[in-house]
Amino acid sequence: MDPDPGGNLYDTATFKACLLTVAFSSLYFYKTGKQEIPFKPPTPVPDTVVVTVIKAKPPAKKKKTIYLTFDDGPNKGTRNVKRIITAGQLPVTLFVIGEHVYGSNYQSSIYDSVSRDTLFEIANHSFTHAFENKYRQFYENPDSAVKDFARCADSLNLRTNIIRTPGRNIWRTDSSRKTDIKSSEATADSLYAHGFKAIGWDLEWHFNTDQRLVQSADDMLKEIDLAFANRQTNMPDHLVILAHDQIYSNSDDSCSLHTFIDQLKQRDSFEFNFISQYPGVGKP
Ligand SMILES: [Zn+2]
Repeated sequence: MDPDPGGNLYDTATFKACLLTVAFSSLYFYKTGKQEIPFKPPTPVPDTVVVTVIKAKPPAKKKKTIYLTFDDGPNKGTRNVKRIITAGQLPVTLFVIGEHVYGSNYQSSIYDSVSRDTLFEIANHSFTHAFENKYRQFYENPDSAVKDFARCADSLNLRTNIIRTPGRNIWRTDSSRKTDIKSSEATADSLYAHGFKAIGWDLEWHFNTDQRLVQSADDMLKEIDLAFANRQTNMPDHLVILAHDQIYSNSDDSCSLHTFIDQLKQRDSFEFNFISQYPGVGKP
């Protein structure tokens, strides 16, 4: 029996080939003097860190909002008010009296004109202006006061529920409740309960018995600054100005209105809006 069926290992062709390879390799390195180059890892290149310094912009200063409102129109000053507001291109709110719209052809036509103008927002100043200035009688009876505002809204087909109470600085919104004369409180509450939002004013541009303005445009600017600085407005950073339509039929006083609006617009810290955008008024 052959004890090694695979034959002698040293006789195989594979073994012989390996032996020859080792021999030739040794001879090559011996003759060339070359040595195997040891593995050398690549030198790491340091990362370049580019730092870009972005300067944070200072936060934009919040603007203060001014709501310019005119009561008692349509009246003899409406045409001038419209001309001046159109030149100034700022939004204003007109609190109109229902009776005045039907007072004359001029009043009807100027009312139509401002109603169609996107710079003017129309709101409700009652139908009869407290039974033609009978304030005590008007505010003693909540039901008839509510009916008077509803009559104005219906007859003019007003889409707003925003009102200004004649002769009284009353606030009734979702966030304000103030009454200047206590005896008017029941009527003010009743108006609010019937869905009306009453907007008073923070600053009035007064007029005297000759129907002339009391403050100059500069005086008004100073009063605005003081009211904001002393936080005397109904809502911080919001200021409602009451002006009266009829006063601006006078050319000097309409010039004052023009100057006032120019000066207001030069202030970067102010923006202007309709009274429907006042906080707490909500959707009509
Ligand atoms: Zn009025």
